[in-house]
Amino acid sequence: MSLSKQSESPFLQGTNLTAVGDYNRSVVLDTIRKAGQISRVEVSHLTGLTSQTVTNMVRKLIDSGLVQEEGTVTVGRGKPRTAIRLNPDGRYAVGIHLEPAKTTVILINLAGHIIDRDLPDLPDDSAQAIAALASTVSLLLGRNGIPGKRMGGIGIAIPGPVDARRGTVLDPPNLSGWRNVRLAHDLELSTGLPVFMEKDVTAACHGQTWAGRGEETGQDFLFMYMGLGIAFGTVRHGHVYQGRTGNVGEMGHIVVDTSGPACWCGQRGCVAVTCDPRSLVKQAEKEGLFPAPTHVQDPRAFNDSADLPFLDEAFKSLCQRAHGGDEVCRDLLLESAGRIGRAVTILTDLWDMDTVVFGGPYWHLLKDIYLNRVAQVLRRRSVLRQVHNFKVLSTTLGGDIAAIGAASAILDHDLTPGPAPGMSGRDRSAI
Ligand SMILES: [Zn+2]
Repeated sequence: MSLSKQSESPFLQGTNLTAVGDYNRSVVLDTIRKAGQISRVEVSHLTGLTSQTVTNMVRKLIDSGLVQEEGTVTVGRGKPRTAIRLNPDGRYAVGIHLEPAKTTVILINLAGHIIDRDLPDLPDDSAQAIAALASTVSLLLGRNGIPGKRMGGIGIAIPGPVDARRGTVLDPPNLSGWRNVRLAHDLELSTGLPVFMEKDVTAACHGQTWAGRGEETGQDFLFMYMGLGIAFGTVRHGHVYQGRTGNVGEMGHIVVDTSGPACWCGQRGCVAVTCDPRSLVKQAEKEGLFPAPTHVQDPRAFNDSADLPFLDEAFKSLCQRAHGGDEVCRDLLLESAGRIGRAVTILTDLWDMDTVVFGGPYWHLLKDIYLNRVAQVLRRRSVLRQVHNFKVLSTTLGGDIAAIGAASAILDHDLTPGPAPGMSGRDRSAI
């Protein structure tokens, strides 16, 4: 039974009232973007706007450089019509992914393609780090000759928890030196550009919906973010669900192994102590796969940012050995994949989702072992296994997905009707 065909449509409806031109502009842009290439007549049909309104709007969009005419399209037995599409160089945005182990800064165009990237080495002091980020943004714009009028702004992806509305980094467990920092505000002052900040997993969801275009995933999916921390995000009807405060996706205390190690939350075998890179390296050390780190005397090893490079290296080595045929390392990762599969089963059952997309900074090290194992667990354990099949996918956007997503959230704000929560400073008309 279909509740409403219209609500399933990815295309939004416009309104022909003259006072809402800004909204209609976004509706038309959104329709052109989703179609790729389309005629004015089809835009009118899909949005419900009159052909005159569409013609006027498209003329303004062509004048502003956001849309261009290119070739023709033919629908059914009708005559060929001039095709319009987004101009990839009509707008740019910068995406910053602040990770515990490294920082990525990218420049993308309206088509979601990465034009340039940089990996700045940030000082520990947050004020100096923000100044370094502003210099990197300036460097990217300068060396690619991007005019200021075509810059949409800067999107930042950062580990949670975040105060997305104020653009403040609160106290992420893996980022020391960033406690209560007004990152979005200060970077906006330094660069003169609008800045939008969101949690890394939410940014990854934006990246998957924008640059991934939903071709493989469809409009509804669960996203699993595999970084130094593990989190999930959800996309419903093509829209990223951010939660009330922009902090959706904390899944660290889902119990996946009742006989597992004790967690600070009082339970045993949570995702946070059995599945993330820190837990897996600790487990490998316990099993004698690695020599214990000589420089870490504290039993809470790797809880300090100074230990992160060691942790990063040890985890990569564990994964490489698993792929290189070391059966003990491989079994350790397979068991971890089984635990992640249990967590994914709980989440897909809760949200009634049939598609799961994996990505994040460490995903490329895990995907060959995890994909099949997670799918097996899901098909065996899900309450909904008799209702629908499951698709378990790997993102095609690589390790830059959160940076791409943060930048695309800026472009999305410009092109998609409705305000984006967390946009710092200026309103949409100023962008
Ligand atoms: Zn816990």
